[in-house]
Amino acid sequence: MTEILTKSKILCTLGPASSSTEMIKKLAKTGMDCARINFSHGTKETKTALFNLIREVDTHLSILCDIQGPKIRIGKVKESIITLITGQDFIITTDEIEGDQNKVSISYQSLPQEIKIGELIYINDGIVCLQVVEVTDNNIHTKVLSGGHISSRKGVNLPTTKISLKVPTEKDIEDLKLIANLSPEYVAISFVADGDDIITVRNILSSHGNDQIKIIAKIERPIAVDNFEGILAQADGIMVARGDLGVELPLEQVLPVQKRIIRLANIVGKPVIVATQMLESMVKAPIPTRAETSDIFNAIEDGADAVMLSAETASGDFPLEAVSIMERIIRVSEGLIPRRNPEDYDSHNGSISEIIGHLVYNTCQEFADLKYEGGKIICLTNSGYTASLIAKYRPSLPILGITSNPKTAKILRLIWGVEPILLPEINTVNHTITRLKIAVKECLNRNLINQDEMLIVAGNLLSLPSQTNMLSIIKTEDILNVN
Ligand code: PEP
Repeated sequence: MTEILTKSKILCTLGPASSSTEMIKKLAKTGMDCARINFSHGTKETKTALFNLIREVDTHLSILCDIQGPKIRIGKVKESIITLITGQDFIITTDEIEGDQNKVSISYQSLPQEIKIGELIYINDGIVCLQVVEVTDNNIHTKVLSGGHISSRKGVNLPTTKISLKVPTEKDIEDLKLIANLSPEYVAISFVADGDDIITVRNILSSHGNDQIKIIAKIERPIAVDNFEGILAQADGIMVARGDLGVELPLEQVLPVQKRIIRLANIVGKPVIVATQMLESMVKAPIPTRAETSDIFNAIEDGADAVMLSAETASGDFPLEAVSIMERIIRVSEGLIPRRNPEDYDSHNGSISEIIGHLVYNTCQEFADLKYEGGKIICLTNSGYTASLIAKYRPSLPILGITSNPKTAKILRLIWGVEPILLPEINTVNHTITRLKIAVKECLNRNLINQDEMLIVAGNLLSLPSQTNMLSIIKTEDILNVN
């Protein structure tokens, strides 16, 4: 029996609960494919140290650095928690003060000029809602429409206000400099508004000497939903960032938006991550709610490449249990995913890789109809593009992504269904069949394929400078017997 691999990927945000060597090792063993470093917290030194630790502990892990974007926050408050009462008056000010029951400072200096009477200010993930009644100089006078707790540096959302803050902020530009130097596989950009934001970030990374990092656009504002097609065209992947999105949009619109985003990202073969509150109750409890398990199942069924844990692994009491539960849900959901109609996922972009991706799907179905035992897809891939375009059709057989590029191997950790296999020596071999033989031997050694199994091989014949150009159906032993 060969090993049964799960196909959907898991991202874990690392934080105080998970930044030790021991814990990173355990998370990776339990199912973490990609570690997320949240650049909203910590110093340059702490983020560099965490990055280096992840690389040191597991060289196969993918890393995603998530930059803060124009996130607005309240300032410090005197008490650890202040409770605002529905109906009370409350002032938001740009003056530097320590907040209390009546007044709190805000990080965005131009807000008094840009906000209008009647508009809404949300604090602490939308729990507290204020309505603007008057603006005088630096002070925004509000009425509390919905009371609750606030504490120092809680996030602020302004879904109805047109603000002029743009991606990237000064802080983002500093962070991007560091990120270009660290060279993670992915960088996630918070609060993007349109495709131009992605181009700007790409140019900054490039100007600091790194054009290898894949850019993930976080969709968390209504404007990003409106401009989604333009963002998708420029980005390398998408994150449905439901934390802020669920405050900026009416909550009941989040799931329909999530489903649409997943479908459109699947069609172009770009990875899509569903994030935030996937197992929120597990921050404090060892088991999740029934609704949370359904949420993960549905995201996988809809076509998410990856699901993400935030506070659950960063600061929760049960980080390992959260990953383990996620892995269990993924395993069950993958056994039940209905067959995709491949025609629905053709982008008709004229790429040969897409034609081959579609044909690979059809071949898997033929194998199933002919009742072939087993079967694997062997994808010889350099940039990972061929593997992504095979994966987007969600073929029933596992995809073994053979690459001699260490960066690509880690990038593939986030692509649905692809098990990356790094084989540096195939880089030096000219003959495709010899490369294939080395790859197949390695897969056999790792117990990923059987001696008598049929293989669907996709890749680039003769390493021509064109796109994917080869699709073959070969038995494992026939490849091994080639002299
Ligand atoms: C989100 O808002 O869902 C999200 C992932 O972003 P952050 O955790 O950076 O707020």
